Amino acid sequence: MIPYGRQHITQKDIDAVTAVLTSDFLTQGPMVPRFEALVAAKVGARHARAVNSATSALHIACLALGVGAGDRVWTSPVTFVASSNCALYCGAQVDFVDIDPRTFNLDPAKLKEKLERARATGTLPKVVIPVHLCGQSCNMAAIHALSREYGFRVIEDASHAIGGKYQGHYIGDGRYADITVFSFHPVKIVTTAEGGIAITNDDALAERLSLLRSHGITRDPQHMTQPSDGPWYYQQIALGYNYRMTDLQAALGISQMERLDEYVTRRHEIAQRYDVLLADLPVTTPWQAPDVYSAWHLYVVRLQTVRIPVTHVQVFTRLREAGIGVNLHYIPVHTQPYYQALGFKQGDFPEAERYYPEAISLPMYPTLTDAEQDYVVEALRAALTP
Ligand SMILES: *Cc1c(COP(=O)(O)O)cnc(C)c1O
Repeated sequence: MIPYGRQHITQKDIDAVTAVLTSDFLTQGPMVPRFEALVAAKVGARHARAVNSATSALHIACLALGVGAGDRVWTSPVTFVASSNCALYCGAQVDFVDIDPRTFNLDPAKLKEKLERARATGTLPKVVIPVHLCGQSCNMAAIHALSREYGFRVIEDASHAIGGKYQGHYIGDGRYADITVFSFHPVKIVTTAEGGIAITNDDALAERLSLLRSHGITRDPQHMTQPSDGPWYYQQIALGYNYRMTDLQAALGISQMERLDEYVTRRHEIAQRYDVLLADLPVTTPWQAPDVYSAWHLYVVRLQTVRIPVTHVQVFTRLREAGIGVNLHYIPVHTQPYYQALGFKQGDFPEAERYYPEAISLPMYPTLTDAEQDYVVEALRAALTP
């Protein structure tokens, strides 16, 4: 089986993890702060707070920005459910902004229209969560300008996008977002098995993220309400969680980060090769905005269904039967039963709903060989014929 994505683990990664296993600390040791410093320096941000998943990072990012009952959070309907669930965890209301059909990312023009209507009815969002689908940055300059005009904060869900760039700078540098979140799930660009990180340039937000990921407990006398009782003393000053990353995971992450640029370069080669090999097939290959350098987490093609004598499901089934683990990213979130029960309906976000019955994620990961890629292309060619 050729999967759509997979991790790459070297002997050096294994050695890094086993060294932690025989050290003094399996968790809350030196590896997590080292990993955080490394990621922050790499993307050009002041602070990074590592946690046990990007889902946890999104949750505490919302909380750190003060999202709660009565607030509204907007995101893209074409994303993993975690991008919107984080707002529901906080008791906020979720809404979506339809996508640009070329990039599959939240469309700033539609965001502006929706903000205009929301201003008229006093229902502006507190936070907008743009998702860099497939690793391609959203139009962050436009979204940032709107955040100033309409007074919302920005959390980038960059789960797909570590190592990607926007306007020549690494995603996560915080020029256009309050907080950036990366995922380290094994199918993503670099992995810690499970894991995520929240990045910010804001000292107070970083402090808040630290508290929230570990029970709301502080050992810093500056943040306590009274002098310390003694060397054992700590105070709980907020309601936090146990969202900590382990030192085993951080050691794996440190080792993986060494190969981040190499991985993204290889993903670019694979994408460029797909672009050429698929040029004569009735599929639309992924368009790239001129000011982005994608991390290429996913390579998504859209079937030109009117030119194809078979259905989307048939193409999928044939590829799976050929041993290719194609996938679909994503089922529009507002069509999930849980979200329908919140009041969303089929028809609410037409571009997202047009995308869904056309999209296929082809295999994309650094160790995919040219021969495997050729096999995928030939299997797709065969799957598109009657
Ligand atoms: C993978 C992913 C997440 C969740 O990441 P985890 O680390 O698995 O919690 C959130 N948003 C998007 C867009 C993702 O792809």
